[in-house]
Amino acid sequence: MAHVLIVGAGIGGDTLAALLDRQGWQVTVVEIAPGLREGGQTVDLRGGSREVLARMGVLEIVLDNLVAQRGLAWIDKTGKHLAAMPVEAFDGQGFVSKEEILRTDLARILHEAGSSRIDYRFDETVEALDDHPNGVRVRFRSGIVEDFDIVIGADGVHSRVRSLRWGPEEQFRKALGIAHAWYTLDERADTPPIDGWFLMHNAPGGLMVEARPGHEGTQEVGLSFRTTDPLPSRHDRAAQLALLEQTFTGVGWRAAEIVSRACEAQDFALDTFDQIAVPRWHDGRVALLGDSAWCASPLSGLGTALALIGAEALAHELASGADVSSFVTERAFSTYEGYMRPRALAAQKLLPGRVGMFTPMTSIGIRAWAAVWKVAQWRAAVPILKLVMADRGHAAPKKDQGRIAIQPSPR
Ligand SMILES: Cc1cc2nc3c(=O)[nH]c(=O)nc-3n(C[C@H](O)[C@H](O)[C@H](O)COP(=O)(O)OP(=O)(O)OC[C@H]3O[C@@H](n4cnc5c(N)ncnc54)[C@H](O)[C@@H]3O)c2cc1C
Repeated sequence: MAHVLIVGAGIGGDTLAALLDRQGWQVTVVEIAPGLREGGQTVDLRGGSREVLARMGVLEIVLDNLVAQRGLAWIDKTGKHLAAMPVEAFDGQGFVSKEEILRTDLARILHEAGSSRIDYRFDETVEALDDHPNGVRVRFRSGIVEDFDIVIGADGVHSRVRSLRWGPEEQFRKALGIAHAWYTLDERADTPPIDGWFLMHNAPGGLMVEARPGHEGTQEVGLSFRTTDPLPSRHDRAAQLALLEQTFTGVGWRAAEIVSRACEAQDFALDTFDQIAVPRWHDGRVALLGDSAWCASPLSGLGTALALIGAEALAHELASGADVSSFVTERAFSTYEGYMRPRALAAQKLLPGRVGMFTPMTSIGIRAWAAVWKVAQWRAAVPILKLVMADRGHAAPKKDQGRIAIQPSPR
């Protein structure tokens, strides 16, 4: 049996693990976190990802776990709606879709879709990847050394596999100039209700505070701000919280409450919005998948869709692993890359002015964008806006529909 090592048990890594296992590969997955990584806000099922989930046999369970949402509303510092985009807008092609699921739930469903044959190792990562004539010799953080036929880096935007094999992250990172903190708040008696809306409050200086529906009794909250400075270390929570406090003082609406409760959140994260561009996603028997290869940033709204589609495409090319010669592996990686690169590039082309739209700098800009979103929903403007929205890659390319058909074989 051909043996694959997948680094990262996220959306792309777990999808690939389930599919390769079904196709006859021996699969090992290492994940740096002590368990499945929780956290994240809602992700949608557009851009062809719905079809991948259906072919995997998990669409029904995903649909049973959707988050009920009414749409996106822009509000002022008193909580008054400036504009709203319901989920029905643009025939469901608006910013918030009817079919959204919390990233945590999607990650769990994909993980459970894998069979018990898959060898999961949590709290583990790779320290060295050395080629030998028939495979890759991997040294793990635990000190174990083991040989694999191929290695896939599905370890997210700050990929260790990419750093080990391709070099430092800075070479591949295009910063969009925004930082974003996100976490889950348990609703208390004094927590303002959001009534199914994704509420977004912009303040001058490129600041944004948001609260959106989560699991029952919770809200998913976020704080965004413009910056080109390096953020405090991910391990220094005190410095991260101090930065948020300093940045969001006097911003209005629920900023003070949301910032003050960041210290309670188990799933708190603060990171920059970046895109990743790696000239070639494979090197010998090592390849990249998902954000590690092509992160388009959360502003694209397509990170999850691309990871799912990419995992299916890669599994399709790797087939049963009956032949893992260098020639066949190289051909499989090249075909996968040829299929995915145009999609990744399209997703990275954000709507013009997307950063300014997300975090306007001035009060006039904030009011102007609210007016744009109102006018955009007038009947005459809808066809044009629908075209622009669909062009973001949310519509699956027709010529590819049904290209890949993998038989589901649940646990
Ligand atoms: C906790 C979390 C919350 C997120 N929330 C959002 C969100 O709200 N909105 C949004 O648009 N996108 C979010 N994302 C990003 C989104 O999941 C991805 O853009 C998309 O799903 C692509 O998936 P991926 O498999 O490439 O990466 P991810 O789903 O990010 O998975 C990468 C996995 O690799 C693991 N990993 C990282 N480094 C190592 C290492 N050195 N060794 C082993 N494993 C490693 C991570 O812990 C993670 O489990 C989030 C990602 C994470 C991990």
